[in-house]
Amino acid sequence: MNKKHTNAFAYINQDEYLNVSSSGGAFLGIAKVFFSINKDGRCSAYGACFDENLNVRHERVLTFEGTKRFCGSKYVQSDCLEAYKKAKKDLLEGYNVLFTGTPCQISVLKNTLKSSEVNVEKLLTVDIVCHGTPKAEIWKEYKSYIEQKEGSKLKFFSFRYKPAGWKGYPTFAEFENGKKYINSYKISHFITLFRKDLLIQQGCFNCIFPGHYQSDITIADFWGIEFCLPEIDTKKGVSIMIFHNEQCEEIKKCLSNYAKVMIEMDDDSYLIYNHNLLNKTLKPKEYDDFWQDYKQQGIGFVICKYAGNSLKEKIKFEVIRMLRYTGLLYTVKRMMHKA
Ligand SMILES: Cc1cc2nc3c(=O)[nH]c(=O)nc-3n(C[C@H](O)[C@H](O)[C@H](O)COP(=O)(O)OP(=O)(O)OC[C@H]3O[C@@H](n4cnc5c(N)ncnc54)[C@H](O)[C@@H]3O)c2cc1C
Ligand code: SF4
Repeated sequence: MNKKHTNAFAYINQDEYLNVSSSGGAFLGIAKVFFSINKDGRCSAYGACFDENLNVRHERVLTFEGTKRFCGSKYVQSDCLEAYKKAKKDLLEGYNVLFTGTPCQISVLKNTLKSSEVNVEKLLTVDIVCHGTPKAEIWKEYKSYIEQKEGSKLKFFSFRYKPAGWKGYPTFAEFENGKKYINSYKISHFITLFRKDLLIQQGCFNCIFPGHYQSDITIADFWGIEFCLPEIDTKKGVSIMIFHNEQCEEIKKCLSNYAKVMIEMDDDSYLIYNHNLLNKTLKPKEYDDFWQDYKQQGIGFVICKYAGNSLKEKIKFEVIRMLRYTGLLYTVKRMMHKA
């Protein structure tokens, strides 16, 4: 019997790329193939990275090595305005262009190019499944808050520090005074508030893109892999790659040559475990209060009130961190569920 094509793949890149990627290194896999199959022509790639002040913005790079700057999810809206203009210019000059971003960013790019009647034959677009993005201002404010607490400028920050684990969103911060914090309570508030859906922009609750992707390829974390493909070793992260059109056949073939794991899904069961693939994020009950408190009382106040800054919360954070580190978290969760 012929296998049904879902065009959705579980994907794990080679080990050397996994520590810098948020899940299975899907983005780097695609970037590598993009530069290798277009090696006879001029190529540019666009993605989100930190600038020297740790603001998030889209940059243009011209090599596969350059795309490594885009790795790692930054849970902040990336400034794309210059990138749209540059990508359009590149296409007009005959470049092969890889553009990656949130589904709304890909939509804006495509609409801009369409309205200017730019030929998009040489454009490859990749979007990430998107839970929502916080505005740049709140990230800036949080950055200043932890810099003030530390008494030093923040040099580097990771919202998902892979060496400390794929799941659980461990953060990493390095300050100019040389101090480094890995998955520490002191630098965890932003991600805690993001995961409570309090930081994302109001407009994201009306997002029209889940299930209506305009890209060539959509990538996401493969949550639920342990139920869908239990035989796979998932410790270092797994991505989902969904191909939306037939132009991607060559890319798909090359990807499977490079990949450590690339398995096409037999059915749509993976959708159950990733809410934002087909659904928008729901606005939490506390959202309006959070923002009112933030405007009136500032970042320190909302951190205490909504991210939990008490001794009890700090102990809870450390206990969960230890359980995750020792691999006992799921055993404990199962025991508590049964009790
Ligand atoms: C704001 C945000 C929300 C997300 N929500 C979900 C979700 O709900 N469910 C889910 O399964 N996955 C989500 N992801 C995607 C996920 O984190 C991974 O990017 C995806 O699994 C691909 O894995 P990877 O290993 O290739 O990651 P990586 O190599 O870390 O992916 C890098 C790619 O992400 C892009 N990127 C990083 N930060 C941003 C940003 N701020 N704006 C635009 N593009 C960015 C880069 O340009 C690059 O293309 C989200 C990512 C972001 C940035
Ligand atoms: S949730 Fe939707 S509107 Fe918000 S950043 Fe993501 S794609 Fe854009």
